[in-house]
Amino acid sequence: MSNSQHNVTVIGGGIVGLASAWQLALDGANVTVVDQGAPTNTTSFVNAGWITPSHIIPLAAPGMVKTGMKNLIGRTGAFAVSPSAGPGIAPWLAKFASKCTDAHVEHSAPALKELVDLSINIVDGLIANDGLLRTKDKLWMLFTSENAKHEAAHEVELMEHFGVNAYEIDPESCAAQEPILKNNIKGAVEFATDFGVDPRQFNEIFKQKCINAGVTFRNETVVNLNADINGVTVFTDKDEWSTDYIVLAAGIWSRELVKFVGGNLPMMAAKGQSVTLPDVENMPTHPMMLSDQRITLNPLSWGLRISTGYKLTSSNDFAIEKKAIDKLIARTRTVVNLPDALPVKNELMGMRPASPDGLPYIGALPNNPRVVVATGHNMLGLMMAPGTGRFVADIVAGKPVSREIMKFSPARPI
Ligand SMILES: Cc1cc2nc3c(=O)[nH]c(=O)nc-3n(C[C@H](O)[C@H](O)[C@H](O)COP(=O)(O)OP(=O)(O)OC[C@H]3O[C@@H](n4cnc5c(N)ncnc54)[C@H](O)[C@@H]3O)c2cc1C
Repeated sequence: MSNSQHNVTVIGGGIVGLASAWQLALDGANVTVVDQGAPTNTTSFVNAGWITPSHIIPLAAPGMVKTGMKNLIGRTGAFAVSPSAGPGIAPWLAKFASKCTDAHVEHSAPALKELVDLSINIVDGLIANDGLLRTKDKLWMLFTSENAKHEAAHEVELMEHFGVNAYEIDPESCAAQEPILKNNIKGAVEFATDFGVDPRQFNEIFKQKCINAGVTFRNETVVNLNADINGVTVFTDKDEWSTDYIVLAAGIWSRELVKFVGGNLPMMAAKGQSVTLPDVENMPTHPMMLSDQRITLNPLSWGLRISTGYKLTSSNDFAIEKKAIDKLIARTRTVVNLPDALPVKNELMGMRPASPDGLPYIGALPNNPRVVVATGHNMLGLMMAPGTGRFVADIVAGKPVSREIMKFSPARPI
């Protein structure tokens, strides 16, 4: 059966849901997106806005346990575990630790590369044809620590191993090109393929693509699901309807929704926060990672977005943490010249849907082919959404996906 004969309900209007809905509608499916709230507050809008094809190494990689623990007890506090994380946290951490191996990186990197390559192809089309703006300059990773030179060289070596184009640049050149930087940069790497976008514009373009392709939007909360071999009934706070397929793209909240249809997605909510500061002098032209401070910078047209934080927590932990925001700004000031007074900060928070093996879930549930899952994209969902949408449409149409993409199946052993 081709998609032109299918009714599909996509649950979740974040970037993964929008990208999936668009591709399904392009194939001719009759698509409805249901989302519970104001999408401008979702993770898909608040993120750092990096498109980083170089990041084909999964989060669960050698050294991450050590790095995570170091951050947990160290000063930056970028990685943290909240007491409200719930009982799922211990098995999640144990599974994460068990995946921090070279073998897992070798297993995952080709699959992530296939997903990212397809995503970048689609993003390139949006830049060429739909007015998507990108930063013209390439992404920098900056080091301020004493062993910066060693860290930078190690990063380049790792990237070269996976065929990624990254090279060291000298700190003097960084300072000359970006006067916003203080003079404590000791090492730097430029990633030739990586750039920044404004997440708000990115989401809006996908939404417009959906509208143009005839997708219907419903502003309702899904409260129950009932699936059998012939289809799925969707129950919301206002209505109920039957559909041939659902695509579960509700970010971290997919973890609870999937239980209605007998599935298990052992994800954790990984909370991050950002500020977007207007009126910054010497606005940088490169997106930047302040590596030792665990902070990302992205120059948007309406301000400098500064993001940090990876706090494993409850999926209801929506609070903006003022102390963490103050620390974020103070840490940024150690490397970057910011105005003394910051009357407008545009503070935001979002929940990354984090799988324990660092890979997204893309595929039908093993117990029901009518439920296709698209979540778990963790730190890279903005970038990976376009390709995810294409694979979702192929899976719903019953087209075979490659062996690499099958590694993202929710049926994989974790
Ligand atoms: C600080 C920070 C920085 C980041 N930086 C980057 C980056 O630079 N590059 C990158 O690629 N990624 C980045 N990410 C990750 C990226 O933002 C996420 O992976 C991505 O947004 C996840 O998208 P999603 O569509 O899966 O989920 P979401 O954006 O969370 O969308 C899920 C949607 O489901 C809806 N929903 C939930 N439950 C229900 C229900 N019961 N009924 C109806 N609707 C429901 C929600 O309202 C929401 O709109 C960052 C994340 C954070 C927090």
